[in-house]
Amino acid sequence: MREAKGKLLVIGFGPGAFEHITERARQAIEESEVVIGYNTYVDLIRGLLTNQEVVRTGMTEEVSRAQEAVRQAEKGKKVAVISSGDSGVYGMAGLVYEVLIEKQWDPETGVEIEVIPGISAINSCASLLGAPVMHDACTISLSDHLTPWDVIARRVEAAASGDFVIALYNPRSGRRTRQIVETQRILLNYRSPETPVGLVKSAYRDREQVVLTTLGRMLDHDIGMLTTVIIGNSATFVYHGKMVTPRGYQRKYTLDALEQQLELHERLQVEAEPWSLNAVISPENTLPQQTDAFELNPAALALEALRTLETKGIISGGYISGDQVPAQKMQISIFEVGVAPGIASKKFSARQMTALAELAGESGEMEYTPHHQIILRVPTDEPSEIVSRLKSEKLLVFPIGDVVQIKACDFCNLEKGEAIPVAEQLNLRMGGLKTPKEFMVGLNGCAMACYGAALEDVGIIFRKGAYDLFLGGKKTGRNAHPAQLVAEGIPAEQIVPTVERIFRQYAEQAHPNERFHKFFKRVGSVAGFQHREHAPQIAVDGVCGS
Ligand code: SAH
Repeated sequence: MREAKGKLLVIGFGPGAFEHITERARQAIEESEVVIGYNTYVDLIRGLLTNQEVVRTGMTEEVSRAQEAVRQAEKGKKVAVISSGDSGVYGMAGLVYEVLIEKQWDPETGVEIEVIPGISAINSCASLLGAPVMHDACTISLSDHLTPWDVIARRVEAAASGDFVIALYNPRSGRRTRQIVETQRILLNYRSPETPVGLVKSAYRDREQVVLTTLGRMLDHDIGMLTTVIIGNSATFVYHGKMVTPRGYQRKYTLDALEQQLELHERLQVEAEPWSLNAVISPENTLPQQTDAFELNPAALALEALRTLETKGIISGGYISGDQVPAQKMQISIFEVGVAPGIASKKFSARQMTALAELAGESGEMEYTPHHQIILRVPTDEPSEIVSRLKSEKLLVFPIGDVVQIKACDFCNLEKGEAIPVAEQLNLRMGGLKTPKEFMVGLNGCAMACYGAALEDVGIIFRKGAYDLFLGGKKTGRNAHPAQLVAEGIPAEQIVPTVERIFRQYAEQAHPNERFHKFFKRVGSVAGFQHREHAPQIAVDGVCGS
């Protein structure tokens, strides 16, 4: 029978610096009678010791340390077992429990145990690098002393394909040098060699070292037992030496403006989150022909288009089953995507052009189209990476094929931009939706309509504070003709629903491959707008800027 019940205090003391030890960890060390830890760790907390008995052991003696701790606690002592970082992250907490369990420990009658949390290396090292974790992240220890290498390799592969930010613990030691090389090889199958990587050695300790490098070049630097390697995900970028993983705020907010485009109450609506599960159709869902196109959204249709191509064997699959991330490694195929700097903006920055050129590389190609888009074609088994990279360069990305395209003018260098929100809204609501045949909606910001809105399937021209609507243009071929003016002075709030009604009828009633002008002529009336056999001359009043 024991006289007093002992207690195990399993303590994580953080990265190393005194100020990063939690208050409870300090108290626990102070109230303990015995301190058990690896030599280096005991030295790190020496300043906190008063007259505790100290049991120091070597690095690889964790089991005897845990057993000794349990033995001392069973004698009635308060025993501090110390780990660096957090004791529950590759630390002593699990092992102490396992030793107790082996001894058939009963929490009611046996020794007490308290696990005291600490700042783990993933957090301390991330803080020195900037904000590289920020999003879904995982830790992987590359130590195969206790874990079979093939399990570790599978976890690296899974984390890579899941686009997790990865913190590698125990990346390399004197004898374990191949693991980090093999890990880099696996990661490069999924991520660009330019992916930012942070190497932090001895965070918040005397010989702290922080190196910012890339996945391709990380092995050129010193990586050792005291290093944590943080690998960015496909969206992580570097800004003035800081590694940042965006959480996604840029999708919904304008980060350099005080006024936000979306009102507070709009921010959680499905329309504002076309990437969400509620908005994106599930893989089991039916094909678009069997669904009401308006219940779908551009993202859903883009996925659907990819799936159709995949079914037809035009591209090879895998990436449509997850959140734009390859579910498994696939054979290389050509990924094709339309890219533009904005709906209104026609200006690619040098940085965006460089990114496009880098993505195209030796084997890809870029085609400039009459629709102010560049079509990028790249052989890749990682389309999601290409898309994230394009988006991180603030480029708009469009599916290619028979989908709704919104073609706006540049609003006189964005100076006459009153109609830009309508163009953006049209793109948000309809851009990329599957159509019976290509379907171009042109929106021009003044009566000059120099970007040819009046020649498109649907033309919208902003004039005197409202919108004129043109339907059924055919801009190429020997029988090319402009669209018919069907309404003038449509107020801003009505124009998007009007165009949606027109498209809905076309999507539902057109024959396969029937162009909109033919459809308009055949049915005679679309959304209440009448087709006229001989279109009268369109009276264009005003000049650019009127
Ligand atoms: N329990 C600890 C991890 C112990 S495993 C924690 O939660 O942080 C040992 C590994 O942790 C090292 O190989 C290194 O990858 C990482 N590590 C621990 N302390 C560190 C520090 N101060 N700086 C950088 N990496 C550290």
